[in-house]
Amino acid sequence: MFDFFKSRRRATLREQPFPEAWRAIIAANTSYVSRLPTEDRTELEGHVQVFLAEKTFEGCGGLEITDEIRVTIAAQACLLLIHRETDYFPDLETILVYPHTYVAKTSAYLGGGTAIADEQARLGQSASGVVVLAWDAVRRGATDAHDGHNVTLHEFAHQLDQEDGAADGAPVLGKRAMYTAWARVFGEEFAHLVEDVDKHRKSDIDTYGATSPAEFFAVVTEVFFAEPEPLKRRHPELYEQLALFYRQDPAANTSTAPART
Ligand SMILES: [Zn+2]
Repeated sequence: MFDFFKSRRRATLREQPFPEAWRAIIAANTSYVSRLPTEDRTELEGHVQVFLAEKTFEGCGGLEITDEIRVTIAAQACLLLIHRETDYFPDLETILVYPHTYVAKTSAYLGGGTAIADEQARLGQSASGVVVLAWDAVRRGATDAHDGHNVTLHEFAHQLDQEDGAADGAPVLGKRAMYTAWARVFGEEFAHLVEDVDKHRKSDIDTYGATSPAEFFAVVTEVFFAEPEPLKRRHPELYEQLALFYRQDPAANTSTAPART
């Protein structure tokens, strides 16, 4: 719940001047955050101040946490919060960061002999109270906006999904009417992807999303921000549901963005 003192403390944090060094990190490391319209970027910077004040970062495997690591992760996590009423991932306390991708221990079988490496092979993990990330994967996902993958967005989408107590691919949607459309569109798209995997058909959505509705939501969140145009073109209803939930239209940002150098 929002209590008065927490809201006031956060408002104060948001109003603090944003360090230029942090702004430079965001510009250098997170290509689609830097494409945001100016007012969205200002909102995001405010959220980053709150996020960094409230969450703890711990380096693992000998990694020393730097501002670059904290700001790069925070900026992407907070991309999921702008335009929305948010309690800043209320269950999340700690972000553990490893220097490199850690080795996958298990695989999930989806039938038809298709083995799909589990979350650990995807370079991160999300659980109650904690997100685990590999810094090399975070950097890769943040700077290369064209492969549709972003492990940070993936794990923080799981955090949003878990806010209602169930990791079921349906986050808190606000209006009740939204659940009907969400359930229909996500149900159909998920079933379609599972069928693609079963029949060894090529799919434009990462087949890891067929693991469960929760993974589907996390995977399409990645695509929504990292490759919005193809998603909008090929899966307009899915794109629309995500745009309603995130209250953003990233495809519009890409088309108006100046060419990157
Ligand atoms: Zn996942």
